[in-house]
Amino acid sequence: MAADKTPAIVIRTVPFGETSSVVTLYTREFGKLRALAKGAWRPKSAFDGALDLLSICQVLVLRKVSGGLDLLTEAHLGSRFRVAGSLPAVYGGMYIAELLDALSADADPQQEMFDVAETTIAALSGHSGDEDVVRRLVIHAELTMLRLIGQAPTLVHCAECLAPTAQHSRVAFGMLDGGTLCAHCRQGRRGVVSVSANTIASMHLLSGPPAGWKDRASFPAAIHGELRAVMNTYLSHLVGRRLTVSRWLSPDSRTARPS
Ligand SMILES: [Zn+2]
Repeated sequence: MAADKTPAIVIRTVPFGETSSVVTLYTREFGKLRALAKGAWRPKSAFDGALDLLSICQVLVLRKVSGGLDLLTEAHLGSRFRVAGSLPAVYGGMYIAELLDALSADADPQQEMFDVAETTIAALSGHSGDEDVVRRLVIHAELTMLRLIGQAPTLVHCAECLAPTAQHSRVAFGMLDGGTLCAHCRQGRRGVVSVSANTIASMHLLSGPPAGWKDRASFPAAIHGELRAVMNTYLSHLVGRRLTVSRWLSPDSRTARPS
């Protein structure tokens, strides 16, 4: 059986036996896969220390034809995630890994999904200082991934009737409907929250390419707080559970630590 070579992001590792690991990878060519890395923790293994969480590496993998785990035969480290002075950047990286796992099915390759995750992890690695940058990077990655799986929230028109959303100071956002709602369609619906128009405009900006938002002035904390709350709730409805790392991303969680 020939081994397939592909760039990969390590999104989870679980110890297996004394020296092996079961590694969940998001690969560029084959999508998400789970593979056994035999002897991963032995000194001088074929994995070159490349299997740490969030490492970006080149892997050689023997694909199982039906069920079971794939077999990882080699991994070469491209870049390791570096922890610098920003705790939010570390949480951001962990969150990208969790998000990739939650929004992808096994063996369903989406190269753009890999690309946005790789770019975001690279930008968060070694980051110190400005937390606004971290929050923007994470929300841009979330909105891009949602678009790629066909679940992007509507932001400039009504999710139900497609009429342009009225530009009032507050906008109705239907968590179960997939985005903003007009005054008519919001009547009697469940899971509708009122969001400031500035927050919706910021979401719209961050859903676009980085050139549109990278050099903008920092968003006020209130906008970041509301953005985070909307994204957390929207993704919870979509995935069916609250993503574990999401609670460490809010601007007001900076003094909190995972328990
Ligand atoms: Zn409508």
